[in-house]
Amino acid sequence: RLKEGRALALDVWTIFSAANLPSDCINLGQGYMNFAPPRWVTDAAEEALNTVAPNHYSHPRGRIRLREAIKAFYGPQLNNDLDVESEILVTSGANEGQYSVFTAFLEHGDEVIMFEPFFDQYLPSVTFNGGKPVYVPLHPPKASIEKPTSDDWTIDFDELRRAVTPKTKMIIVNTPHNPVGKVFRRSELEAIAAIAEEFNLLVMSDEVYDCLVFDGKEHVRIATLPGMWDRTVTVGSAGKAFAATGWRIGWLIGPKSIIQPTLAASTRIVFCSNSPLQEAAASGLELAKEKKFFEKQLEEYAERRAILCEAFDKLGLKYTLPEGSYFILLDISEVEFPEDYPFPSSVLGRGRDFRACWFIATEVGVSSIPVSEFYCEDHATIGEAYGRFAFCKDVDTLCKAAEKLQGLK
Ligand code: GLN
Repeated sequence: RLKEGRALALDVWTIFSAANLPSDCINLGQGYMNFAPPRWVTDAAEEALNTVAPNHYSHPRGRIRLREAIKAFYGPQLNNDLDVESEILVTSGANEGQYSVFTAFLEHGDEVIMFEPFFDQYLPSVTFNGGKPVYVPLHPPKASIEKPTSDDWTIDFDELRRAVTPKTKMIIVNTPHNPVGKVFRRSELEAIAAIAEEFNLLVMSDEVYDCLVFDGKEHVRIATLPGMWDRTVTVGSAGKAFAATGWRIGWLIGPKSIIQPTLAASTRIVFCSNSPLQEAAASGLELAKEKKFFEKQLEEYAERRAILCEAFDKLGLKYTLPEGSYFILLDISEVEFPEDYPFPSSVLGRGRDFRACWFIATEVGVSSIPVSEFYCEDHATIGEAYGRFAFCKDVDTLCKAAEKLQGLK
């Protein structure tokens, strides 16, 4: 079935992976950290590996210790005394969880609304399950805004309303947003919720960057808005929370009516998720409060964000200051490069941003991700203006990147 087009094309993460770039290129592309998870979390992983039970299959819902930890951590934030037997599902990363929701709920031709740009994985996850993606733009900041923030990426709610058809099954919300960094305002989520209620839609709320909301901005969980619990599944990730993206441990939280069918799908896709690392994730959530882990981690990320922003300011290039996540969108529309540069074929077939990001990676020595990948093919030109730079790296690396980026002058 996967014969042509983007489904078969190399994914952007592989094209811009360290393996394809010069060895001294600083990798600010794919969003993963160049530092280890906290020691007290990896200690728990080690302990689990040296214990018999967590080396074997766990319950398809997830190991009970992790489900209890999720209940204790998220229950108060969701104003809900979560039932570990029916309202929590541990998944093999947030991706697999979301894929399983689509498998469980989409019938052929069902439409799924997503805000564009969107995290690239949503598109194939919807289409592989027979669904049809429908795009509603996050309108880029007006050119007159000198120092745009992610809050300047706006939604036209009439456009959202017009996107709903009798076939619409679900809306995907992603806050904090990848790649924009937008933290959806309460009023925006209320407007989305009103449309979901009016047209009886499910909401998948991807909140994997929930621990990275800067400057005191409020992270609102759409599941907590009146009437929304019953139609919302909230997505979380140990990879983002504990600097462990390769662990592939995520979770879904929602009403039994959503979790039960999704469990059936997930059970047949992966049966269960990595058992020892579930124990480690549980220990992370259990101890986070006492260690003030997320507060400290946020401060570190704010410092990392500042280093890149300062580098872009120095260059005089416009960027979107993210209120959340660990990504910054840089306006690369004016970065010049020779058209006869030796670009690989995987880059040549794509938008201008692919060439610009490749050029910046190979000539300046800092990699990023071309943002047209986060748009459907019809709208890709909008994304071509941007490169996405990840700041989930240690301060030293970011300072080196900041220095190298001055080569763009
Ligand atoms: N979520 C990560 C990012 O946006 C990478 C995900 C992936 O590699 N598929 O960079």
